[in-house]
Amino acid sequence: MLAPISDYRLRQREYLLRIAQAMTSRLDLSDLLRLVIEKAVEILNAEAGLIALREEDDFPLQVYARYGLDKELLNLFTPLLVGEFLDQLVQSGSWATPDLTHRLRVASSVLGVRLRQVVALPLVVGEEPMGVIYVFRSSSSPGFSGNDRQVLAAFADQAAIAVHNARLYQRLLAEKRHLDTIIENSADGVMILDGQWRIQTANRALEQMLGRHRSEMLGQTCSEILQLTTPQGAPVCTGSCPLEELGPGPHPYVEGVHVTPDGRRIHLGITYSVLRSPDGSLREAIANVRDITRMKEAEEVKSTFVSIVSHELKTPVAIIKGYASTLRREDAQWDHQTLSKGLMVIEDESDRLDNLISNLLEASRIQAGVLTLNPAPLDLASLARKLVAEFRPQSDQHTFEVEIPADLPPAWADYERVRMVLSNLLTNAIKYSPQGGTIRIGGWAEQERVVVMYVADEGIGVPEAEFEHIFERFYRVDNRMSRTTAGAGLGLYLCKAIVEAHGGEIWVKSQIGQGATFFFSLPTREGGA
Ligand code: ADP
Repeated sequence: MLAPISDYRLRQREYLLRIAQAMTSRLDLSDLLRLVIEKAVEILNAEAGLIALREEDDFPLQVYARYGLDKELLNLFTPLLVGEFLDQLVQSGSWATPDLTHRLRVASSVLGVRLRQVVALPLVVGEEPMGVIYVFRSSSSPGFSGNDRQVLAAFADQAAIAVHNARLYQRLLAEKRHLDTIIENSADGVMILDGQWRIQTANRALEQMLGRHRSEMLGQTCSEILQLTTPQGAPVCTGSCPLEELGPGPHPYVEGVHVTPDGRRIHLGITYSVLRSPDGSLREAIANVRDITRMKEAEEVKSTFVSIVSHELKTPVAIIKGYASTLRREDAQWDHQTLSKGLMVIEDESDRLDNLISNLLEASRIQAGVLTLNPAPLDLASLARKLVAEFRPQSDQHTFEVEIPADLPPAWADYERVRMVLSNLLTNAIKYSPQGGTIRIGGWAEQERVVVMYVADEGIGVPEAEFEHIFERFYRVDNRMSRTTAGAGLGLYLCKAIVEAHGGEIWVKSQIGQGATFFFSLPTREGGA
């Protein structure tokens, strides 16, 4: 027959069970420790108790829970809270403090109970001492027995586990917060996807990149949000999603065009870190999203550059070579007129080549950010007249007029660069008015420190929708003229860069079929427009 369990042991069991339940119900650590100390004091028929924990090595222990002791009395127990006590307690199982009896007496007189006996046990998990549990009894009670110590040890163990768990949880929480901060502040867009491709986390950089608030993204699948396509418009997310198949590398990568809610077209490059279940299905993925629009543009510019250079350079070279080899044929006799016409073509084509090469060099200088100006007072009227004199013989279909007031103040500008601007504008005026007409070059002083120059023609004109674009690099209006005239789409880009480097502006006014007028402003004295 089993011996009946004593009432005392039953209560002890019940208390420990309640503490264990409280531990699983995610109680706050202080509440849990308060429960432990309350039940420990009760079961040991004691008067008071406290649980103090070590937070950092070299610091006194902190009281986390107390029972039967007012807060004001705690400073009486500071000698019990010295860190070395805990170590002493763990190593030798005993400790002593010289004036403890005196302190207990003071506490007793305040509490109205004669506290005389103290028992202390360390809270240890594994090798790590985390704190101490103290229980005080009055002098009228019997002394602490070995059994009492055992009982207290059971409570100390519970408290130690609770502290250990709470600290682990805190550490996890801190690490999660740390990770969240890293993700949130990452310069790349980051999103975390669950096994159904649904966005669980999206960071600030991603919000900015996609122009969407994260609340719009969370819970949606990444394909609903990204809707990536190839530059030609074919869908990427459906059919070519790298998460759908087990790719060869650990970091699947995909690129595609995304259109933001406000209509911007951006190129995205996405690298995934994937966590898969043993059957290969997706469990979770972290996506690093980069805006690679600039890189793509640079690639496009590079390939446009190569095709333009090869086309634009090859054409004049072929013409020059053709004329030169024809003219030097030994079996032919050329009259003076044919000879001179042939040489004129060679000269014109060489000029074109020279112009193109200068434009390309200047464009690469601008690109490299090393466009340096040598400004000086510049007489725009005489420069305009000189250029017109050079251009006039190139076109007998056009009439040139210079309309510059005699008192136009000199610009503060780089002579060679401004010459390039005017020369590019005059070349275009001729090129894009194939029926001929008048080309006017003029200027006026505006405000105190600015001069405005213009080149006007009576040619095909520029559609209003293209006013901004024609100043972009390699941009040519897509019309019949651009298909039949030579050009690299660099002239106006250079004009804009040069004018802006001087602190000026460039713009166009035009009506289709009525000609175009290009204006640009320059400063008149040192210090910018
Ligand atoms: P390119 O003349 O080599 O094509 P530009 O940068 O000088 O390059 O000019 C860009 C585009 O702007 C041209 O292709 C043309 O379509 C348009 N454009 C420039 N100047 C004129 C003009 N005076 N009249 C009409 N269209 C022009």
